[in-house]
Amino acid sequence: MTTQPKISIVAPVFNEQGNIETLHRRIVEVMESTGESWELVIVNDGSRDGSVDELRSVRERDARVRVVNFARNFGHQNAVTAGMEYARGDAVILIDADLQDPPEVMLQMLDKWREGFHVVYAVRAERKGESWFKKFTAKLFYRLIYRIAEIDIPVDTGDFRLMDRQVVEALKAMPEHNRFIRGMTSWVGFRQTGVEYVRQERHAGETKYPLRKMLRFALDAITGFSYFPLQVMIYASLILALIAVVAIPLVAFLRLAGSHLQFEGQATTLIVLLLLSSFQLFFLFVMGQYVARIYDEVRHRPLYIVAEVWENTSDAGVTDENSAG
Ligand code: UDP
Ligand code: MG
Repeated sequence: MTTQPKISIVAPVFNEQGNIETLHRRIVEVMESTGESWELVIVNDGSRDGSVDELRSVRERDARVRVVNFARNFGHQNAVTAGMEYARGDAVILIDADLQDPPEVMLQMLDKWREGFHVVYAVRAERKGESWFKKFTAKLFYRLIYRIAEIDIPVDTGDFRLMDRQVVEALKAMPEHNRFIRGMTSWVGFRQTGVEYVRQERHAGETKYPLRKMLRFALDAITGFSYFPLQVMIYASLILALIAVVAIPLVAFLRLAGSHLQFEGQATTLIVLLLLSSFQLFFLFVMGQYVARIYDEVRHRPLYIVAEVWENTSDAGVTDENSAG
């Protein structure tokens, strides 16, 4: 009996008990002002705090809310992927559950969508309440990936974005692991534009991206969209070969000329050896990063496992599918 909602909002949740209530309220306020039909798809990415109870109560009060519960924590990008899989709207908006992305920005996104854009990404003009370290590394990262990626990934954009159904379908056909969704959305093409906003402080709780996860995410982005780290090895090898080519006649000449500088001794050899080994190990690590990701692909494991979906039973949605991707 429920009709297809026009707009789907997708929010991933991992231990966000203090945010769910407010997130829902703010989204309701914004979406009611549009007069469109909508749904809120929340993907519970294996939360271990009180999020589950909060989600249950929000869902019971509002039939427009659907909750997809993962069997464990599968990570932010996989949660967003599941959200897109379950979303039914003509436009899908991805938003963080911690209210760092103000729901009001969705109105500007919808305007751009009505103008005919297929992707409207939110550009962080300013970031509030984040450490200088996070801001600095993020700035550096977005510029690095912009330079080395084969496609143009707009700088200072997160996953907060609107996507047309066509784009969502294109993304659903990309089952890759170790996902970098903002890169994947750029990759598909179509008409894209940005709207600026001020990224707010977290409403409650703490970031779920410690340094370890941030680095892992950066590596996913780089390996997913660039061969630069592999190609740079050829330059390293050329430079080292060049040094050898110059050094051989130089040392021979010095010896023949009876110079004191004869590069004897174990210390020199040892230091050069350590330096070269460290280069080689570093490049092995780089290759390993790509190889490990190939391994992830060939195993063909699903991106996530769904334990339970809570939705209005009269809804014609996906209810009992175990996994996707
Ligand atoms: N998140 C998730 N699974 C994870 C980590 C994060 O679903 O393993 C969600 C989190 O609940 C939030 C969003 O992804 O809604 C962004 O995470 P967070 O705010 O911690 O990242 P930050 O804004 O600090 O980069
Ligand atoms: Mg956040």
